[in-house]
Amino acid sequence: MDCLFCKIVQGTIPSRKVYEDDLVVAFHDIQPQAPVHLLVIPKKHIATMNDCEENDSALLGHILMKAQEIAREAGLADNGYRLVNNCGRDAGQIVYHIHWHILGGEKLAPLNPKPQADCE
Ligand code: 5GP
Ligand code: ZN
Repeated sequence: MDCLFCKIVQGTIPSRKVYEDDLVVAFHDIQPQAPVHLLVIPKKHIATMNDCEENDSALLGHILMKAQEIAREAGLADNGYRLVNNCGRDAGQIVYHIHWHILGGEKLAPLNPKPQADCE
């Protein structure tokens, strides 16, 4: 299969790996958007969040728990971090092998720059 992240899993394309186990790989993003920008991916090829099935539930849980651990190892736990999955065209997904971005190391731009006034 002609998939960039499958090639990173197989090692035919090099990456700066920070973690690997039987199910997942984590590595530095090639074009970092924050002082710390890591990607966590399953070794299994799943194109997008839309393609996950019920029997991927344990894998998805594993990915999130590993993301927590990897973020802590990267020193992000205290100040916090953003965990992002882009799904499909409107979200700007570029690589169609599911992945989570771990972004941190600075105060990130808020998703909603103009918070609504409390409505009570
Ligand atoms: P997406 O927009 O699909 O959520 O994010 C894909 C990410 O993969 C981008 O942040 C991009 O910089 C990163 N990326 C693309 N090609 C490579 C590569 O060859 N190596 C690494 N390490 N990251 C890549
Ligand atoms: Zn793939």
